[in-house]
Amino acid sequence: MIEVKGKVIDDQTRCEHYHSLLDVIAIKFKCCNEYYPCYECHEETANHKSEVWKKDEWNTKVILCGVCNTELTINEYFNSSNHCPHCNAAFNPNCSRHYHLYFEK
Ligand SMILES: [Zn+2]
Ligand SMILES: [Zn+2]
Ligand SMILES: [Zn+2]
Repeated sequence: MIEVKGKVIDDQTRCEHYHSLLDVIAIKFKCCNEYYPCYECHEETANHKSEVWKKDEWNTKVILCGVCNTELTINEYFNSSNHCPHCNAAFNPNCSRHYHLYFEK
């Protein structure tokens, strides 16, 4: 199992902040190379400023599907139509509102 830090509340990476049926991905932060379920978890527990992934780093595996525990690249995630390409679990489409907190646009 890949370790996910922050305020995780179950084994599919849901956290205190985002815990709907669809909130099953975690993101590895560039600043510390650790997985967190969301930016609020990172902000409240990491004690440093977060950094975003640059466009030329989007082939790096930094997205974790909490259902099947597979790591996806940022490109794979963006091309997934909000479904895990491995186990077909549905991802929360509202995450796109927060992309700027994780990825350079
Ligand atoms: Zn960090
Ligand atoms: Zn959180
Ligand atoms: Zn999956």
